[in-house]
Amino acid sequence: MDTALQPFEQRTIEAAIDFASSVIAPNAAVWEQQRCLPPERIGPAANAGLTGLLLAEAQGGRGLSKTAMARVMEELSKADMAYAFVLVVHNNFMNAIAQAGSPAQRERYLPGMLSGKYLGAFLLTEPQSGSDAANVTTTARRRDGGWILNGAKAWITSAASADLLSVYAQTDASQGWRGIAAFIVEADHPGVFREAPYSTMGAHVMGAGGFRFEDCRLSDDAMLFPPGEGFKGAMAGIDLARANVAAMCCGMMANSLDVTLVHAGDRRAFGQRVLDFQGLQWQLADVATDLHAARLMAYAATRAIDAGQRAAIAAAHAKKFATRAALKGIADCMQVMGADGYKHDFPLARHLACAKMAHYIDGTTEIQNVVISRDLLRPAT
Ligand SMILES: Cc1cc2nc3c(=O)[nH]c(=O)nc-3n(C[C@H](O)[C@H](O)[C@H](O)COP(=O)(O)OP(=O)(O)OC[C@H]3O[C@@H](n4cnc5c(N)ncnc54)[C@H](O)[C@@H]3O)c2cc1C
Repeated sequence: MDTALQPFEQRTIEAAIDFASSVIAPNAAVWEQQRCLPPERIGPAANAGLTGLLLAEAQGGRGLSKTAMARVMEELSKADMAYAFVLVVHNNFMNAIAQAGSPAQRERYLPGMLSGKYLGAFLLTEPQSGSDAANVTTTARRRDGGWILNGAKAWITSAASADLLSVYAQTDASQGWRGIAAFIVEADHPGVFREAPYSTMGAHVMGAGGFRFEDCRLSDDAMLFPPGEGFKGAMAGIDLARANVAAMCCGMMANSLDVTLVHAGDRRAFGQRVLDFQGLQWQLADVATDLHAARLMAYAATRAIDAGQRAAIAAAHAKKFATRAALKGIADCMQVMGADGYKHDFPLARHLACAKMAHYIDGTTEIQNVVISRDLLRPAT
């Protein structure tokens, strides 16, 4: 597939492969044990050219296609999907600033985000609403020529350490989603309170947690999307986000298969290699088939996005299929490894937690079915 990409895109994918094997893979288990990003956060990834992936080269970015970005995320996820997802959120925020930000916002934030000095987060979900994403109750009220934010956000990737927040807030509840605006808020701004990160099944590198806003005063300059554009802005990249999750699940499945094949090739039971039991070979063959199908679906979606075609259904199919395939496939690989697969000495337990997490982010599995069934039923309604 990579041969269809531009040489500069192939070079970024090679940089991702190198970064995954030399930086993420040797450290991911320790980061998970310490339950946080390393102190240098995404700095090393920025040095490896993995920030500003979608930004035009004129803006200091890599100018990748969506397909190439997904390939980068697939490769990083072979080592750790949690770290890759931190980079996805950061890159997407940069893209929103590049496309919708004012010249002053671009100048103020993009260089620091490109270098990894600033880490970005996307704040849409609230304690009372996740799937019903337009049900935003964080308020932004007009006051003295600026805005005052009040409310709470939940389940925010990089909440533990983000410096820059894209905050979605309701300016006029009577307008529903049309009242939602978005603001760029610096995390140390007065009135911003960071909650302690959650204790979850895994993926603690993502530092998922919440924020509170208490009379947080912002100037007009902080607005990223005006009312009417905020919710559209939040949803603008959702198809790519779903395709990226699918690609990341493929990375974890591929790595799980690789690790399992080596382990089961060495391990012996009843006088033969574990890998020689046909029942186990077929279990791995099923994982390989699912991986093949998931990759085809993920990249069918990214290619449709790159071609400017409608990709909502393709992305929903890809996310639903790949997350399910990863959860089952990684668990099956762990089973072939026997009790060793269950140990943190191997990456599969981390991958399994991320495969479960992938069922929630960027729309749950059920929300993918809402999208797919709405399309299925359209001719009948
Ligand atoms: C690790 C992690 C990181 C995250 N990072 C971010 C982030 O950076 N920024 C951000 O804004 N959000 C983030 N999220 C939040 C994520 O987007 C939400 O978890 C997701 O939208 C689901 O919302 P919920 O968890 O509140 O579930 P709910 O909406 O409460 O849903 C509960 C259950 O009901 C089902 N359901 C809901 N509506 C329907 C329906 N119409 N039909 C059928 N079933 C339905 C759901 O599928 C689910 O099974 C993150 C979540 C996780 C787990």
